[in-house]
Amino acid sequence: METANPFAGTLPLGQKLTGLKKLASDPAFALEIGKAAEHLVCADLIIQGYRAFLSDQGLPYDAVVDINGRLIRLQIKAACFPRNVNAAGKNERIAYNFSVRRRGKEGQSRLTNSDCDIVALVALDIKTIAYFPIGVCASTVQLPPPGYISNVRSDYGWESIDQFPFASALSNDASLYERLKKASRYNCANGHEMTETNSFYARDGRRRCLTCAKDRQHRYNATEVSHVS
Ligand SMILES: [Zn+2]
Repeated sequence: METANPFAGTLPLGQKLTGLKKLASDPAFALEIGKAAEHLVCADLIIQGYRAFLSDQGLPYDAVVDINGRLIRLQIKAACFPRNVNAAGKNERIAYNFSVRRRGKEGQSRLTNSDCDIVALVALDIKTIAYFPIGVCASTVQLPPPGYISNVRSDYGWESIDQFPFASALSNDASLYERLKKASRYNCANGHEMTETNSFYARDGRRRCLTCAKDRQHRYNATEVSHVS
């Protein structure tokens, strides 16, 4: 279970953390955080009228939903609080961050499209869940909190975490996930993957490919040299 931990090592002396902040502050509580998220998802689905169950330990999915005898497998990911996901850049971008494709204790193995059907992304502080078909998820999914307005709004083409109902994930609502894909831009125009290490935010607030920027710089330098000689 992958959990964001914004409070690790930042606790001022003498201040006592309580509740979710306390859970988020210590990796020893990862199991509790995971359990809380799993129960929230099951409760959310049962209240909507679905037949939902928690699965056994050791399976690549955390819950199962029975849709008229068809079993839908759910992988559940939790984040305690949103954080600035552009800490290296100038402009703050607040989002819940989920490492969707990480699996296992150390996150060493990869969650594939055949391991589960739907991913449930849980924001524990606001008890809100976003449901995605596994097929549309890249390695990381970042979702802004409801109503959050970033000063780099252009980067938030996708909806906030409260806009992804289970029914849409179940029906593979194409228009909804097309918007998500377009906004998150996992590959640049030249096909480089836009990972956290291979991208940066330019002055206009847009995300750019680092490999392409370096290539441009090399070409520019090469022309400069040839002009001199
Ligand atoms: Zn590129």
